[in-house]
Amino acid sequence: MVIEFRINDHYDRRADDVDPSMIILHYTQTKDFQALDDIFMGRNVVPEVGRVSAHYVVDVNGHVVQYVEEKHRAWHAGRSYWGGMRDINSHSFGVEIVHPGHDHIEEGYPFEQIEGVIEVCRHLVYEYNVKPWNILAHSDVAPDRKIDPGEFFPWQRVADHGVGIWPDEDNADAGTAEFLLGNPDGLKSHFASYGYDPDLPLDVIVMAFQRHFEPTVFYGDGSPGRPTVRTVKRLLALSAVKGR
Ligand SMILES: [Zn+2]
Repeated sequence: MVIEFRINDHYDRRADDVDPSMIILHYTQTKDFQALDDIFMGRNVVPEVGRVSAHYVVDVNGHVVQYVEEKHRAWHAGRSYWGGMRDINSHSFGVEIVHPGHDHIEEGYPFEQIEGVIEVCRHLVYEYNVKPWNILAHSDVAPDRKIDPGEFFPWQRVADHGVGIWPDEDNADAGTAEFLLGNPDGLKSHFASYGYDPDLPLDVIVMAFQRHFEPTVFYGDGSPGRPTVRTVKRLLALSAVKGR
């Protein structure tokens, strides 16, 4: 699967040598693979980005390049939070997907590239028993700073291939969802018990959740940041699977 291993020195030790339990997906926000490689190999230091890295990069044609050994801590998540953890880099694998970013987000991702993402993630899931609810967007773990890999990333398709989780809202109780919708504190604590940072405003959490699990609100089928019964039912459906 891995066509190349490119050694850089943008890594350190995982805190307390923890076993990684998460996968964080990103887009590179570069015009192509070469531009990303220049940053990861330290030939191009972008001041506002600094020295960064990820374990794997998936090019537009689906080719996978590894930059950091899996046992090491790559530098991809920055200030972030999930399920009580703040040092997400120590607890995760970073997978970067070559894509120019939100100015081109509606173009989506090539089929072959997603095949590559599925392949590398399935490898990590198998080797490290990564749980489906711990395969996340950068925007899930840093909702106030990040929007990658964006609302056009095919989360449902990758979940169908064993990477992550997609909510089946028919499994959630509408009455409970309606009650929570009128009870923002209760709703926020449900988002927090799924993993989202409870220190953030509810609308910021909701927008991050929708970018992953209800992306049609960004295509005109709703208002990003404003939860509906469908939003809450999806959260309940996910929580039920996680709590099983
Ligand atoms: Zn990112």
